[in-house]
Amino acid sequence: MKISIGHLYPKLLNLYGDIGNIITLKKRCEWRGIDVEYNEINIGDSVGEYDLYFMGGGQDKQQEEVARELYKNKDYFINLRDSGAVFLGICGGYQLFGHYYQPHDKDKLLGISLLDAYTVAGKKRFIGNVTAKTDLVSPDSLVGFENHSGLTYLQGETKPLGIVSIGYGNNGQDKTEGARYKNVFGTYLHGSFLPKNTHFADLLIELALEKHYGEKIKLSKLDDDIENKTHELLVGKAY
Ligand code: GLN
Repeated sequence: MKISIGHLYPKLLNLYGDIGNIITLKKRCEWRGIDVEYNEINIGDSVGEYDLYFMGGGQDKQQEEVARELYKNKDYFINLRDSGAVFLGICGGYQLFGHYYQPHDKDKLLGISLLDAYTVAGKKRFIGNVTAKTDLVSPDSLVGFENHSGLTYLQGETKPLGIVSIGYGNNGQDKTEGARYKNVFGTYLHGSFLPKNTHFADLLIELALEKHYGEKIKLSKLDDDIENKTHELLVGKAY
């Protein structure tokens, strides 16, 4: 079996070790004998068609450069989403999956509207550990580290990944964290996100396999004793 992963703009959006998400996806496939075709897509490259796309976080400046490039392929990405492609965006990458990101004192950055969401820069920077309760995976917790000033608001059929019990999440007001619409996922959880939430990594791999083969494929279990213990240690951890 195989899946393909397109890594969107890693030379610009790779804040707080977001590359760890790619490493996790690759290793959890490799350990199961699933081949992974992996390519970076950087400024000037054609996007190409993949089963799963990943985009990390970044400062406003890097987001500006990526937003200009992403927007050229907005319709292409929307068609990919509607054909079942999987997307994971972290923080700045997540923000650009929405309609726009409005930084402080700068022009609005247009997103590619994979999610019915928008982001405006807030006055306070949200920094710290996050625990959120989710109904997407079992155990029903997601953990990570957030560092953003953007306030993200969800609309329409775009639903949160979870509800925060520790931390600020999307906007520090409605207790939501992250977003999902079809197979598009966004989260503010850095750290990296997937090594601390291997159950969510496996969800993404199963969705990417379903995209590739057109049928649901259940992954074999891995010995996740260490990963699960690490996750449990972080659940409810504020400092
Ligand atoms: N620049 C965005 C913000 O501050 C995203 C930051 C990030 O990716 N960590 O909200």
